[in-house]
Amino acid sequence: MQTVRKDVVVVGLGAFGSAALWRLAHRGVRVAGVEQHSIGHDQGSSHGDTRLFRIACMEHPGLSPIALKSLELWTGLAAETGETYVRQTGLLYVGNPGSKTITGPQAAGVPVELLTHEQVVARQPQYDVQPGQVGVWDPGAGICYPERNVRAHVAAARRLGADVHANTTVLAIEGTTVYTPTLAIEADQVVIAAGAGLRHFVPDLPLKHTPTPVNWFRPKDSADFSLARFPAFIWEFSDEMSLWGHGSDEGYAVKVGADPVATVNVEDAVARAFPELEPKPFAVRPCHVTDSPDGQFLVGRISEHVTIAGGDSGHGFKHCAGIGELLAQLVLGEPAYCPTDFMNPHRFS
Ligand SMILES: Cc1cc2nc3c(=O)[nH]c(=O)nc-3n(C[C@H](O)[C@H](O)[C@H](O)COP(=O)(O)OP(=O)(O)OC[C@H]3O[C@@H](n4cnc5c(N)ncnc54)[C@H](O)[C@@H]3O)c2cc1C
Repeated sequence: MQTVRKDVVVVGLGAFGSAALWRLAHRGVRVAGVEQHSIGHDQGSSHGDTRLFRIACMEHPGLSPIALKSLELWTGLAAETGETYVRQTGLLYVGNPGSKTITGPQAAGVPVELLTHEQVVARQPQYDVQPGQVGVWDPGAGICYPERNVRAHVAAARRLGADVHANTTVLAIEGTTVYTPTLAIEADQVVIAAGAGLRHFVPDLPLKHTPTPVNWFRPKDSADFSLARFPAFIWEFSDEMSLWGHGSDEGYAVKVGADPVATVNVEDAVARAFPELEPKPFAVRPCHVTDSPDGQFLVGRISEHVTIAGGDSGHGFKHCAGIGELLAQLVLGEPAYCPTDFMNPHRFS
């Protein structure tokens, strides 16, 4: 077995790990990344062409600075490569006044626009909005592109000198040595960003694996479901069900997901909420979410030499570039650019 020596080794090059690799390489750190599949693969949590990008995050007020950091980093990378990593079309939250869907984005500390019931109906005739429901418009929101962005992080890291071992499974981590079938990578620090595989390396973490498909629908006729007319949305349709998605972009159809996935039939939900869409999806792709008990990520040190990032809880992609920057800061002992306590992996112990 060959042995190599690095400052940092990153295990798992999906959303969080690829971004950490990039931000560490950006600092001139000698870093290696190991990924069991190809880069930008469709076997983890970071595939399905698009993800919602939000700045006024309803899940926690501490998330907005991280989304803004992702935006800053992706905008800088786009200027280098000429690719688009985030498309800001705005996002509409719809729900009952007083619900978390409406109050959460308002508490995020970034500019939003409140919309009356009548304004929501006038803007979005495609919705069958419930009486009394209102809206919040997050103008900086839109969509981002999981496979493309992950590949771009890894390509940028490679240009900056990172070693990338794709199609290589990490079999074990002992201390700060990472073992693949043919290689031992000795490092000062290890970052584990293995998504659903995180518990394989850190079994005590209270994480739950939830299969969550990506569903694409087509309009029945000429009703306008383009991204410009039908921007990204999160709609608390009833006490039992929320819907999320966005209109069709170049090469994509209308994406709709329903929560909670375990109890809501997405075809019934689409038939009730968007009568102008065909209720049968024309494409469904399996994907999965790794949930934490409080729905927030686990990002931080678990020992002197090991830092983890996981528990994506279904809303992590938009934050991944910002989390990558945070991981680089945490690993190197730099001051963090935003508060991290709410993501502390020790908060459940
Ligand atoms: C259907 C769906 C819709 C979503 N919608 C949104 C959205 O609209 N907006 C949003 O922000 N987020 C959304 N998310 C969540 C987002 O996609 C996740 O937060 C993010 O992809 C998680 O990234 P990760 O790095 O934790 O996991 P992953 O991207 O899965 O990365 C983990 C990586 O580790 C690798 N790995 C695991 N074990 C090993 C090993 N032993 N050796 C080597 N490599 C290993 C895996 O192969 C994988 O590449 C959605 C998720 C799903 C499933």
